[in-house]
Amino acid sequence: MHGLMMETPLLVSSLIKHAALNHGEREVISRTTEGKIHRTNYSEVEKRAKQLANALVRIDIKSGDRVGTLAWNGYRHLELYYALSGMGAVLHTLNPRLFPEQLAYIINHAEDQYLFVDTTFVSLAEGLSQHLETVRGFVVMADESEMPDNNLPNTVSYEALISEESSDYSWPTIDENAASSMCYTSGTTGNPKGVVYSHRSTVLHSMTACQADVMGISCLDAIMPVVPMFHVNAWGIPYAAALSGAKLVLPGPRMDGPALHELIESEGVTITAGVPTVWLMLLAYLDETGGTLETLERVVAGGSAVPRSMIKKFEEKYEVRMIHAWGMTEVSPLGTVGTFKPYMCDLSADERYDVQEKQGKILPGVEMKVVDDKGTALPRDGQSVGNLKVRGPWVCRTYFKNEGTDAFDSDGWFDTGDVSTLDQHGFMHIVDRTKDVIKSGGEWISSIMLENIAVDHPAIAEACVVNIPHPKWDERPLLLVVRADEIYIDRETLLEHYADKVAKWWVPDDVVFVEDLPHTGTGKLLKSDIRSAYKDHFSSNKTEE
Ligand code: AMP
Repeated sequence: MHGLMMETPLLVSSLIKHAALNHGEREVISRTTEGKIHRTNYSEVEKRAKQLANALVRIDIKSGDRVGTLAWNGYRHLELYYALSGMGAVLHTLNPRLFPEQLAYIINHAEDQYLFVDTTFVSLAEGLSQHLETVRGFVVMADESEMPDNNLPNTVSYEALISEESSDYSWPTIDENAASSMCYTSGTTGNPKGVVYSHRSTVLHSMTACQADVMGISCLDAIMPVVPMFHVNAWGIPYAAALSGAKLVLPGPRMDGPALHELIESEGVTITAGVPTVWLMLLAYLDETGGTLETLERVVAGGSAVPRSMIKKFEEKYEVRMIHAWGMTEVSPLGTVGTFKPYMCDLSADERYDVQEKQGKILPGVEMKVVDDKGTALPRDGQSVGNLKVRGPWVCRTYFKNEGTDAFDSDGWFDTGDVSTLDQHGFMHIVDRTKDVIKSGGEWISSIMLENIAVDHPAIAEACVVNIPHPKWDERPLLLVVRADEIYIDRETLLEHYADKVAKWWVPDDVVFVEDLPHTGTGKLLKSDIRSAYKDHFSSNKTEE
């Protein structure tokens, strides 16, 4: 027997339609590439997205066509989110921090028809243009007066493209399983792979993101995604904000401490989200200036592990709750979020930080398990370490053009490539990436834990631990650190800092002090490069017993 409820498809257009109708006056604030603050609202965003949809029809963008964006977090990018998906085309956000060769590969692989480019990325697009096989033209996201000189073929400004268009446009009813957007994995090894989100997965992910036990976004919030709109749809916040009617604050290209602090204070931001590096910069700026966070209530952080010292500082010095989350491009991205469970309210602050250091609890809708090398599920005891697998309605089923199929098993689980534990409360704790964990004498050492201990020392600004081949132990941990400016630390003192925190055999075998560390286009440590640069460190240099 079938249910007798309406089979209304879950469409991205329904989100902006709802926001425009019911929260039309709610503001959308952007810092533009020119540095000005631009103010609009959901009603205007939908109106201009409809003008843009009409323009896209005029330039022959059809249902299913991919259109690339090279853009910061701003209102025009938001309009593209809704116009492209809303009309049935596919928004393809491109990460401008990738190498140009990778970008050209991605654009050709996705067969993008047009590229929409912020003024800051015009020269990047110029360098790419002769390598692009399917791109028919470029739209510079500016008005006519701001158009930079360029030698891009078939180019128009965004405002010239839409200015003559009517806002009379009805969002079409399409299949909820149709593609709405796509994003390539950053791929530290091999070619990047395309993850294709559907309308259904996007709407379900947004509804879940708004739940009280997830990000808890409501129409009373002002939310600022610092995570870029080119990285997994800014963790779904541009959709979740419209769904809830929250004020949306888009920081544009300025993700530095002073600029973020100014926006938080002037726009009354209550919740923000981004990678830990961004929050380190904000905290450093606040320390320096004695600034405060008057309106901010919650910071969601993920993408890499959040150090305990950061959770503690936000809470104890600024009365801001740090919510640790885990996600992946393949998971839309949210899989776990560290909001509290009842038992945590009775814990001492230190015991609670132990839980908050974990990556959070499993979201409703997502299933997770940790398995051993034979694929057998391990107990959810917070101790058993294994490969993390995940499935659910917003988890990738296969990559674009069916590449990298070995990540997906026949029971519909996706192998995340992360090594983790799960506990009886549903909290997941990342131990490492499969390829980064240090296999020493048959036992595992977590590079993430060793990095966190190093950065908890005030003399250390950033740390990276890599697994380096060792003649006796197979692999041993090597610690690379960037010193913080204020305090000096030497090798011995830093290694002593580990003494009461980990077993003796976990302590890194050596420390290398460096000026900076290499990162991927999404801000993660580029461990593959570091590993190959130091691959002989323990065989040629020294071999600790
Ligand atoms: P990406 O697809 O670029 O977003 O990268 C996803 C990967 O980032 C995950 O598989 C994890 O290895 C890592 N990651 C994401 N969130 C966290 C977190 N909170 N702690 C540690 N690693 C994380």
